[in-house]
Amino acid sequence: MEQVDVVVLGTGAAGLTAAVTAHEMGATVAVFEKADQVGGTTAWSGGQVWIPNNPHMSEVGVEDSREQALTYIMSLSRDLLEERLVEAYVDAGPEMIELLEAKTPVQFYAVAGMPDYHPEFPGGSVGGGRTLECPIYPFDELGAWAERVTPSPYFADPHITMSETPLGKAVPQPPSEEELARRAERNERGCGQALIGRLLRACLDRGIEPRTSCAGRELIVEDGTVVGVVVDTPEGRTEVRARKGVVLASGGFEWNQDLCRAFLRGPMTHPVSIETSTGDGLLMAMKAGAMITNMREAWWMPAGAVPPEANRMGRVLVNGQRTLPHSIMVNKRGRRFTNEAANYNAFGAAFHVEDVSRFEYANLPCWLVFDQEYVDRYGFRVSSGGDGSRVPHWLPRGETLDELAEQLGIDAAGLTSTVERWNQLCAEGHDPDFGRGDSAFDRWWGDPHRKGRRDATLGPLARGPFYAFEIHSGALGTKGGPRVDPHARVLDLDGDPIPGLYAAGNVMGSPFGMTYGGPGGTLGPAMVYGFLGGRHAAGRG
Ligand SMILES: Cc1cc2nc3c(=O)[nH]c(=O)nc-3n(C[C@H](O)[C@H](O)[C@H](O)COP(=O)(O)OP(=O)(O)OC[C@H]3O[C@@H](n4cnc5c(N)ncnc54)[C@H](O)[C@@H]3O)c2cc1C
Repeated sequence: MEQVDVVVLGTGAAGLTAAVTAHEMGATVAVFEKADQVGGTTAWSGGQVWIPNNPHMSEVGVEDSREQALTYIMSLSRDLLEERLVEAYVDAGPEMIELLEAKTPVQFYAVAGMPDYHPEFPGGSVGGGRTLECPIYPFDELGAWAERVTPSPYFADPHITMSETPLGKAVPQPPSEEELARRAERNERGCGQALIGRLLRACLDRGIEPRTSCAGRELIVEDGTVVGVVVDTPEGRTEVRARKGVVLASGGFEWNQDLCRAFLRGPMTHPVSIETSTGDGLLMAMKAGAMITNMREAWWMPAGAVPPEANRMGRVLVNGQRTLPHSIMVNKRGRRFTNEAANYNAFGAAFHVEDVSRFEYANLPCWLVFDQEYVDRYGFRVSSGGDGSRVPHWLPRGETLDELAEQLGIDAAGLTSTVERWNQLCAEGHDPDFGRGDSAFDRWWGDPHRKGRRDATLGPLARGPFYAFEIHSGALGTKGGPRVDPHARVLDLDGDPIPGLYAAGNVMGSPFGMTYGGPGGTLGPAMVYGFLGGRHAAGRG
């Protein structure tokens, strides 16, 4: 029977950070991954990591402090956040960055300008700096492992970083064709690929080779202590003993319909994460007697369905598209219902609003409606591939708003009066109805050439044809799970740690409640709690 100090389940940011940290603290580590490739949703992501008060902020001229960071996060609490978990996150974030940068190829720089998701709240950062990302990473340094990192269905060009997209700079500076060709030579990758590539290299350097197609199935518990895991491998079922601890880092439960039905507070039909996020870690923790928390929440994300030729998931995240001028979102009554340029996580609440008298969801279904001006200026991108200049044939359209409404089966009079109202607000230069363009956040997203101005997001729908793209309630991942303490130890129903059991990342009951602090707000806590769990487990007697 195999025996190590620490067993980690999952190879996303949480799992690999836990593995590297535990090893740095002197532990022997084994990592198991259910999928046949490594990296999880992290490898599909933008790879941005939100760490307040991080050591790189001063390089982009932004000041921060522990107090400011705590004030900001707690101002978003709505009485759902446990202050000690937020403190642990804020305190350990810079330590985690320093450890990785000192001991591994995982390096970061701060992204200037990209605001927090609620920058006007007390302690919020308008000027960015809390968001970190990794420099592009040459995958030829991974040898044969380069092919074993799951590629992102969403970023058609793996050689760019998030901050090189229109989101990342005050004036967009995409890499030149020559630079992209140069990067292709050594397979230099950005975004979540860079983060996973670097973390994976750190593991391989320590002799930790993740074992793929190996799913943790059940915790081995003896006298109330977790002492190992039963793992399903291609060779059969086996027991792996963990002298010091098991770190659950197996992602959320968004691809498990039964768990979604049981726990989420409203519809979530279009997860955009990796399909192996089926709640395995949650179920293992529950069987071991864990208290669970934050179960109704997810990192919500408006998503659209696209034909399979657009990308292999058949869906896209709807982020930049809905923040651009000359577009609004409407429900089936043809009414706007929220600030379309708000951060994606906030949409979860808008999608779950009930129309009580009609006994239906008020804002599902809903559509992004835009005009020809929008198409001419920005194109219509359903994935990051292609030039986006042509509107796909399958997209509903109408020469007039009435025609479009008829196609969609929605209230035509409602749509016409909504557009008239919107156009009038755009002419006046502000949106008192939903506050679109009021926040520095809205003015950063939107038209990259008008960053910082209200018209980065305000613009009329005046020129047909008009188009509509149905938007669904999606998520980057769920964020409910076993309740943990500031060492990432899983707690039982009495609030006592279950000895030997840790959780980090989307599998855990998030310390963030219903909020999303800023760009990188899921990977930040995933890595910090991976670090805390790995460190504590390695130090256990
Ligand atoms: C397109 C996109 C862009 C994003 N951009 C960002 C961003 O820039 N910043 C940010 O903060 N967040 C971003 N996110 C969200 C972020 O990627 C996730 O929240 C994060 O990756 C979760 O990390 P994790 O380690 O908890 O899970 P994952 O990275 O999903 O890793 C979990 C792993 O566990 C494995 N697993 C599951 N069950 C088992 C089992 N029984 N045994 C062993 N292994 C198991 C899974 O296969 C998976 O590989 C983005 C998401 C998407 C889809």
